[in-house]
Amino acid sequence: MFNNIYDSHCHSNNSHDGHNSVEQMCITAIEKGISGFALTDHCEVDLYKDEYINRVDNSFRDITLAKEKYKDILTLSAGIELGQPNYNIELSKEIINKHNYDFVIASTHGIGDSGDLCNVNYSNMSIREVNDLLDRYFKYYLEMVTICDFDTAAHLTYPLRYIEGVYNVKIDLAKYMDIIDEIFKTVINRGKALELNTSGLRQNIKKPFPTIELMKRYLDFGGELITIGSDSHRINDIAADFPVSLEFLDYIGFKYYSFYRERKANMIKIRL
Ligand SMILES: [Zn+2]
Ligand SMILES: [Zn+2]
Repeated sequence: MFNNIYDSHCHSNNSHDGHNSVEQMCITAIEKGISGFALTDHCEVDLYKDEYINRVDNSFRDITLAKEKYKDILTLSAGIELGQPNYNIELSKEIINKHNYDFVIASTHGIGDSGDLCNVNYSNMSIREVNDLLDRYFKYYLEMVTICDFDTAAHLTYPLRYIEGVYNVKIDLAKYMDIIDEIFKTVINRGKALELNTSGLRQNIKKPFPTIELMKRYLDFGGELITIGSDSHRINDIAADFPVSLEFLDYIGFKYYSFYRERKANMIKIRL
């Protein structure tokens, strides 16, 4: 029997790729019996001024209203998913300080202003080129967790959603294990959390980001702070695959996961 369900990664229609309003998300969460969720709409730092200023403000407004409206039945966290925060550290700080956020997710969707790695045609690339791209990706991710302000580091193996899941190119992560280990140590030393992003479980790749094996490696390094996020972009996916994910986390030895409010980790017991 699992304890309360808190989903730390959800998008509303204030994200360019989200489908439902915050109100619809709250109603669904209550219907599903979920204890709480963090609204973490996108803000790609390299595109902020052109595409995200209004979306970010609208997202914060909507979650603030919902927090008050549903305060007796749903625990809501006002979050943001910052893409490429290391692209412009000063701007990232400005964005985080603009609103009174509970929770900040740091993500690498692209390398600098390369554009989102979901848009790359990997079938046109040699395996060596794919490996080089991944090498640059993990180095950029390491830079992000080293120098940026954030609470959880999101979907560490994000490019595999496309490289393996869509283009069917198999990747040997052993090549990148030194950098991944550095990422884990940096996250731990800075007192930050690592995200288990469950979205891959409902996509072609059929595994979370990162894999359970990597979560175990993080735990073995002393990593205790983790968040779990569905990365839902539609209401049906809120808290998707949480029971099986909690089962895995429990099995490999995690006792708690975290849900952030006021930029502080609240520890949720995995098993009752
Ligand atoms: Zn993301
Ligand atoms: Zn997301």
